[in-house]
Amino acid sequence: VAFIPAERLGAIGVSEILKIGARAAEMKRSGKDIIILGAGEPDFDTPDHIKEAATRAMQAGATKYTALDGTPELKAAIAAKFKRDNRLDYAADEITVSTGAKQVIYNALMATLNPGDEVVIPTPYWVSYSDIVQIAGGVPVLVPCSEWNGFRLDAADLERAITPKTRWIILNSPSNPSGAAYAAEQYRPVLDVLLRHPQVWVMADDMYEHIVYDGFEFATPAQVEPRLKNRTLTINGVSKSYAMTGWRIGYAGGPKALIKAMAVVQSQATSCPSSVSQAAAVEALNGPQTIVRERCKSFEERRDVVVAGLNAIPGLVCPKPEGAFYTFASCAGLIGKKQPDGKVIESDRDFCEYLLVSAGVAVVPGSAFGLAPYFRISYATSMAELKEAVTRIAKACVALT
Ligand code: PLP
Repeated sequence: VAFIPAERLGAIGVSEILKIGARAAEMKRSGKDIIILGAGEPDFDTPDHIKEAATRAMQAGATKYTALDGTPELKAAIAAKFKRDNRLDYAADEITVSTGAKQVIYNALMATLNPGDEVVIPTPYWVSYSDIVQIAGGVPVLVPCSEWNGFRLDAADLERAITPKTRWIILNSPSNPSGAAYAAEQYRPVLDVLLRHPQVWVMADDMYEHIVYDGFEFATPAQVEPRLKNRTLTINGVSKSYAMTGWRIGYAGGPKALIKAMAVVQSQATSCPSSVSQAAAVEALNGPQTIVRERCKSFEERRDVVVAGLNAIPGLVCPKPEGAFYTFASCAGLIGKKQPDGKVIESDRDFCEYLLVSAGVAVVPGSAFGLAPYFRISYATSMAELKEAVTRIAKACVALT
């Protein structure tokens, strides 16, 4: 009998980013010289003091189920973090901990969306947002944010996108994939629109909070506009800031009733996040923060090399991102050009395929994030590889006619 997936999966498949990554890794295994700039995770290892805290926790018997949505110790560390970094007060019953920020988002959307409810997602966007919205029965409403507006949402575009059925807007600053971030005054016009639409809740994905450059001052919606706090879910996690992608701990602060509904979803999905990982996350949040700043500095140096390198290539334009570890460059100037084998580059997908096959550099097309013709580079890799990658991309672009 043919396998028929549930209708709620619709056309959702494995993400294009994962597919490209798998293909590039396969080419590499078969002996090809491939530089993979696709992965969305820091190349650094989890700091030792965090690993040691996990070891201690295991030895002390923290190997059992924990409280459903986070241990009291971790919730206290999260409350202190929100206070310290964001000047936000969240009580323990306004905080939830999940298996990665991805599960936080999943729980929130599953707990709130009814069939046909709309979720506004500015693009380019992290694809999981729209996929999770669809699994939860909602309708993603994509609102393009142009390069000329710094990939930030225009307030008038937002106003037009909101309907009586809008349940959420998902804001992600600094952004994956564009690296664009909102300073407090850049959030202002967007939040002003939201103040006028009380049916819309705000999901603020602050995963890349600590990876910002040039002295950029991070801001989060509930802090910028306290009147929105009672309908805002402020999401964060340890994956990116502390190089802890494999530990799977994400968290959020939000109104008690929402947090409680999210716990219902979590109770029938994972019961609780990993006990050992929660102990490690306590150390990440309460321990020394110097390494976060050092690593950020190192990302900044890499960003500068990639941005300068790409902008020196005719046909490419790379805006300077405020944060995260991605560049989102335009390849509009190369669309219509011919490859040495005569094939015409008709889209950013063609361009990325050309880079992979002819230059051995794996990057992800902007269309995978809902905005073309662009391509995303993740520069969470060594400086030597980045320099080599930029040289190869330059050579491949010059060979186009
Ligand atoms: N939000 C954004 C914007 C991301 O890029 C990611 C990871 O790629 C996540 C959330 C999820 O992170 P995690 O589930 O590892 O906490």
